[in-house]
Amino acid sequence: MPKETIFSKIIRGEIPADIVYQDDLVTAFRDISPQAPTHILIIPNKLIPTINDVTPSDEQALGHLFVVAAKIAKLQGIDQSGYRLIMNCNKDAGQEVFHIHMHLLGGKHLGKLVH
Ligand code: 5GP
Repeated sequence: MPKETIFSKIIRGEIPADIVYQDDLVTAFRDISPQAPTHILIIPNKLIPTINDVTPSDEQALGHLFVVAAKIAKLQGIDQSGYRLIMNCNKDAGQEVFHIHMHLLGGKHLGKLVH
């Protein structure tokens, strides 16, 4: 069994987080250390440590991350101005929490990803 992270506790409401959306498959909450005016993490409720651990049985939940990302971007009023979705995997990408998560960043001009 993969080791639970703080994100499992957030999903279950055992520790506080600013949850902006939750359903049977995914939970979305504001990042504790925002890197943009809007910085929300969207995560599958199922614990999947890294993108390397994804299996075909996860397709519905992971596809749903995008549906929810678009919904939240609209609710936050950044769907037209634009936003960036990022998922980090392992050390070189700087993954810190081993429960996969999609970063939704927006609310300012984010600049180019690769300079
Ligand atoms: P990673 O670097 O793994 O892609 O991103 C992990 C993100 O989780 C970071 O942006 C970090 O600020 C955020 N984070 C870590 N611990 C917590 C927490 O307890 N609550 C919230 N809301 N965000 C967290």
